[in-house]
Amino acid sequence: GLRVGVLAVQGDVREHAAILDAAGADVVLVRRPREIDGLDGLVIPGGESTTMDRLTRAFDLADPLRTAIADGLPVYGSCAGMIMLADRIADPARDRRGDPQRSLGGIDMTVRRNAFGRQRDSFEVTLDFTGVGAVPAVFIRAPLAEDVGDAVEVLARTPSDAPAQHPEGLGGPSDAPVVRDTAGRIVAVRSGRLLATSFHPEVTGERRIHDLFIRIIRGEA
Ligand code: GLN
Repeated sequence: GLRVGVLAVQGDVREHAAILDAAGADVVLVRRPREIDGLDGLVIPGGESTTMDRLTRAFDLADPLRTAIADGLPVYGSCAGMIMLADRIADPARDRRGDPQRSLGGIDMTVRRNAFGRQRDSFEVTLDFTGVGAVPAVFIRAPLAEDVGDAVEVLARTPSDAPAQHPEGLGGPSDAPVVRDTAGRIVAVRSGRLLATSFHPEVTGERRIHDLFIRIIRGEA
């Protein structure tokens, strides 16, 4: 079967592993550089991109992952994983020395973190997802894509009836969502063999996004 890795330094690793396993893939939890070798594809889970950035660098995974992506490894990034796949982060977090968080890159787009607000602003909508159909999608501190390049295909946008966000954020000013108008925002993209979604299919038991990713790996989509 296909060997599909799940980057396992942080985030909802088990949920992705379970869906890939159910889809018949041989799942590899990736924590060391050598575990990248021989993969047919890789999933970068939802979680916290600043932590993933820090840990992938600490475990010497960041550069091998960049090389693998440049060499054509199919990768699916969900939420924080979408941030990791973006060439540019609009509002990177900074560490104590003021250094911005880094992504791995691969998709010619800018992502805006926490664009829809924080945890308590989480919402669910139904998306019209190209090639998949109606997909219920949960957004939790989700990023959105801006400035996508010509090579990037937009697969889904938030619908026109996406809930308006509380203007100041439910948790006070520091929770303020970056965008008030949540309709028509880019929340799923594909660029070659790289796939990214702002939302978490792994938390709703949705399997079709992973099925699409497996078809991308096989060259069938
Ligand atoms: N806001 C998170 C980040 O910046 C992503 C949220 C998520 O993956 N649920 O990484």
